[in-house]
Amino acid sequence: MNILVINAGSSSLKYQLLNPETGVLLAKGLCERIGIDGKFTYKAEGKETLDAVDVAMPTHSEAIQAVLNALVDAKNGVIGSMKEIDAVGHRVVHGGEAFNQSVLITDEVMKALEDCIPLAPLHNPANITGINACTAVMGKDVPQVAVFDTAFHQTMPPKAYMYALPYAYYEEDKVRRYGFHGTSHKYVAGRAAAMLGKPAEQLKLISCHLGNGSSVTAIDGGRSVDTSMGFTPLAGLPMGTRSGDLDAGILQYVMNKQGLNIDQMLDVLNKKSGVQGVSGVSSDFRDLENAFKDGNQRAGLAVDMFNYGVKKLIGAYAAAMGGVDAIIFTAGVGENSASQRLAIAGGLEFMGVKMDAEANNVRGRETVISAADSQVKVLLIPTNEELMIAVDTAALAKG
Ligand code: ADP
Repeated sequence: MNILVINAGSSSLKYQLLNPETGVLLAKGLCERIGIDGKFTYKAEGKETLDAVDVAMPTHSEAIQAVLNALVDAKNGVIGSMKEIDAVGHRVVHGGEAFNQSVLITDEVMKALEDCIPLAPLHNPANITGINACTAVMGKDVPQVAVFDTAFHQTMPPKAYMYALPYAYYEEDKVRRYGFHGTSHKYVAGRAAAMLGKPAEQLKLISCHLGNGSSVTAIDGGRSVDTSMGFTPLAGLPMGTRSGDLDAGILQYVMNKQGLNIDQMLDVLNKKSGVQGVSGVSSDFRDLENAFKDGNQRAGLAVDMFNYGVKKLIGAYAAAMGGVDAIIFTAGVGENSASQRLAIAGGLEFMGVKMDAEANNVRGRETVISAADSQVKVLLIPTNEELMIAVDTAALAKG
């Protein structure tokens, strides 16, 4: 079975063709500058790589057509014809309260996705455009599935997802914590259960997805019970350029002082804050580590603030669940930075977490990085959101 996984943005589109049964990746790539000029990237094992070559892409439909052309290309393709694509899985950022799992896309589902646009005005329209482009190019016979970043978190109880605001904001305007990165948290939780040889139902897990965007999730018995991102992905930890949680009183104060309107303020919080804002150096943790080594104290402070934020969430979620069996590290920083994992999970012996510095000295592969006698296991698990999307898509397409 071959599943085409699509992650459509407003001017870009990432794709992978993979087999969900074997996990084998046949080809992957990227369409960029859609609506501007169009650049196409394609990579497949043993085939010629296309690196940002010019392909006209006035709309997402031409981008999807370029993907299909490359996949079936006589010389560099990986399949004989489009018929070998069994289904298409789309990453959709926001499913609101309407979707607590992946769904087969129908006209009714498309309507519900449109209804979610106000909740994710930057992301959902692009996701919908990607779905429409696939329908236009591939026809209605190829099943398409929507996999939501928010769905996994729909199991949170009200005490975790409600904000202490007038209740009408929730009832009338759907203001609540939704959480994101759900596909990643779900995937690593499943892998953790496999690594520990226990059913997910018996495990209390804390999953730390630490990348450019970061979130931590408490997973009790296979269900998300709390997560650090909120109504939008701006909440929780300080991130590459996002502020994370802050005192809302600061907004009025800074807006008055700096003469900013609310859109400009939100732009600062989303794009000029986080570790970039504190360090003044970079949003990339590798740059920060290097800058700190060269004596830049603010770069060190930014990393310290981030690590401290993750450590506090681990403590909070262990308390919320009444214990924890395993802590998982995933995504760019979680998979690669041994020093940050040690800074975060070190010093937690009081709650049964004992790191093994040597075992921790790895990157990018499934490993236990806690000491043999650690009561709480600490796991490094590379995330694979595309595979999770392909698995869900295959299951729904098979009916
Ligand atoms: P996203 O998918 O949210 O864009 P990623 O999960 O790819 O982000 O993570 C990107 C982050 O991972 C960057 O800040 C990058 O610096 C960090 N990263 C990658 N490799 C390392 C490393 N070896 N040490 C520290 N950070 C790393």
